[in-house]
Amino acid sequence: MGQFYQIPKHLPMKHEFLIEAAEQGWWYCAVLPENKCVITFFTDSDIASQLRLNQSKGWNQHLAKSQSIKPFVSAMKSTETHPWIRQAYSHFLPPTSINNLIAVGDAACAFDPISSMGIGFALSSGCHGACAIQMHLDPDIQQPLACYQNDIVQQFMTYMEMRQNYYQIEKRWPDSMFWKRRHQQITEKSDSLLTP
Ligand SMILES: Cc1cc2nc3c(=O)[nH]c(=O)nc-3n(C[C@H](O)[C@H](O)[C@H](O)COP(=O)(O)OP(=O)(O)OC[C@H]3O[C@@H](n4cnc5c(N)ncnc54)[C@H](O)[C@@H]3O)c2cc1C
Repeated sequence: MGQFYQIPKHLPMKHEFLIEAAEQGWWYCAVLPENKCVITFFTDSDIASQLRLNQSKGWNQHLAKSQSIKPFVSAMKSTETHPWIRQAYSHFLPPTSINNLIAVGDAACAFDPISSMGIGFALSSGCHGACAIQMHLDPDIQQPLACYQNDIVQQFMTYMEMRQNYYQIEKRWPDSMFWKRRHQQITEKSDSLLTP
């Protein structure tokens, strides 16, 4: 969830990006064109409900507890009446039984924003998907769509390991549900997702 803010013209901008871990999630702040700035807080939906982060009062109370983000945003004015909410969870589309269908970008895999992989993957999977379709039209090339799908599975498995490694670094809040959930070991093997 997040809010856009207007940066006063006289305010010197020292940072373009800020990330701050918190007990219930993590903050992300980015300076945007036209003297705007976006502040987002990444957490789980049940925690967001408990903290009433979709309401300005809850959002501002929570923001006031941050160490780096609050001072950064204190002189700025929000451009919206309420914080907005977006889904940003990890997701993988298993191989489909529908013939001649492949997914690219977020439709194939969506990544935790901490990874900053979403846009890069959308572009690369779009290019690889286009090549796979081209090869599919050549009867001499064996199963290019299955190869494409397997490559996506491998990328997602690599990402899951990387994500877990990132979250393991933060150990300040062992009792926090947000961090507990992310510290859990990956027990499910994704091998079954690979197409023959
Ligand atoms: C809060 C947040 C922060 C993020 N931060 C980052 C970041 O810092 N770095 C990063 O790399 N990624 C980030 N991402 C992820 C990134 O935005 C996505 O991974 C990326 O945009 C996926 O590209 P896409 O083309 O697959 O999908 P999209 O960008 O979602 O494009 C899909 C398009 O299809 C359109 N569409 C949907 N349904 C239909 C329909 N039926 N008919 C026609 N059109 C349709 C949609 O309107 C949309 O324009 C973030 C995501 C969120 C939510």
